[in-house]
Amino acid sequence: MNQKLYVGGLVPLTSVDYPGRLAVVVFLQGCPWRCVYCHNKHLQAILPAESLPWEDILNLLMMRRGFIEAVVFSGGEPLFQSTLAEAMEEVKSMGYLIGLHTGGAYPDRFAKVLPMLDWVGFDVKQAFSKYRTITRIDGSGEKARESLSLLLGSDVDYEVRMTMDSSIAIDDVKEAMAEISQMGVRKVVLQKCRDCEKNEVDHPIFSDKVTLEDISKRFDDFFVRA
Ligand code: SF4
Repeated sequence: MNQKLYVGGLVPLTSVDYPGRLAVVVFLQGCPWRCVYCHNKHLQAILPAESLPWEDILNLLMMRRGFIEAVVFSGGEPLFQSTLAEAMEEVKSMGYLIGLHTGGAYPDRFAKVLPMLDWVGFDVKQAFSKYRTITRIDGSGEKARESLSLLLGSDVDYEVRMTMDSSIAIDDVKEAMAEISQMGVRKVVLQKCRDCEKNEVDHPIFSDKVTLEDISKRFDDFFVRA
């Protein structure tokens, strides 16, 4: 790889970050959004001095071939770095399945890597017209909608997640779920938000069984994750 990839962290072995497979998670630096509940603020900026050498990660992947089956690129927003596609090609050529966590901030870059992907965890932040209330960036909802549309137009397996920040009204959740079900999303998880100490923050939707039941009818797979 000619250009540098800035890596902010690594989980060398996980059984929960790629469906049904043992995986490595690579956390990339950089994100264009500033979500109100972000727990990865240390990954929002590119900090070369704190970056792990990509060559070390390739060496680890070389040694673990046959044991680890998948590599998940997470962040930050992994597509913030234009060198991601090249890094994915290297990993794919070793025989690994490729996973990506993304909020969809870069539809053009997403379209470029989509043919290499085997699974995507796609974060939906809000009803698309209200994205700014979470990301604090104008136009973020349109980017996310475009990226999600690309994902749904591919045959790449995925899970759509929405984190239930307390600022999101139940009506907004209903609006977001209606929008994505109309787009064709079939798999959705509502995730509980966590505070700075990583304690669960409650959201009224989790005790609103009628609304959860109504939302669940829109999808083939729908569940709540703590
Ligand atoms: S997209 Fe993710 S990494 Fe970026 S600010 Fe939002 S929560 Fe944090």
